[in-house]
Amino acid sequence: MPYFRNIVQAIRTVAAGLRVTLPYHFARTVVVQYPDVEPTVQPRYRGFHTYQIERCVACEACVKACPAACISVGKSGPRKIDKTRNLAVGGAMTRYEIDYGTCLFCGLCVEVCPTQCLKMGSIHDDSCYRREELAVDFIKLAKGGRRTIEPIWMTKPNPPAWVAKARDARRDLDPDKREWMARADDPQYCAELAAQAAARQD
Ligand code: SF4
Ligand code: SF4
Repeated sequence: MPYFRNIVQAIRTVAAGLRVTLPYHFARTVVVQYPDVEPTVQPRYRGFHTYQIERCVACEACVKACPAACISVGKSGPRKIDKTRNLAVGGAMTRYEIDYGTCLFCGLCVEVCPTQCLKMGSIHDDSCYRREELAVDFIKLAKGGRRTIEPIWMTKPNPPAWVAKARDARRDLDPDKREWMARADDPQYCAELAAQAAARQD
């Protein structure tokens, strides 16, 4: 009677599968109409990095820790933290780039950063037309007062209210900090800050 045994077996298998999937049919829908509705991002979520250029000492610890070799750092001279202002002074930053074409979002770069100027952010989506555009130049972002990327849809006119609020929070709107960010690649400005720090110590 293998024929009937197979039928019973098939019914049992289907019933076992439905016992798992059927309750979802009646469960409350959890789909979020993103980006019209703000998504909930968990506190330890690892999205695109946020980077505070004016506190980066260009030590390259992040570069060495990165298993995907996707971070590039350049400086015109040694940088160190001026403890009075909690700001890196000395040489200028000439490069800080992360290639998201190869980044694993593992967070190892963040763990080794001695000044905690690099963190994993909450933005999870970005899009571009060419692979080269996945390499993000954080110095260019800092010049525009930004510490992380902004997806193209976020920059369009009349975004949903939550987007405008989140976008402004992610841009550094403090005028003093904006100047540090915008001029972190300016050797003369960084040298002036170093001279001021040295004068304070005398
Ligand atoms: S580890 Fe931190 S301070 Fe050092 S280069 Fe990377 S981001 Fe800058
Ligand atoms: S998250 Fe991981 S893969 Fe991405 S830049 Fe940092 S260390 Fe490299």
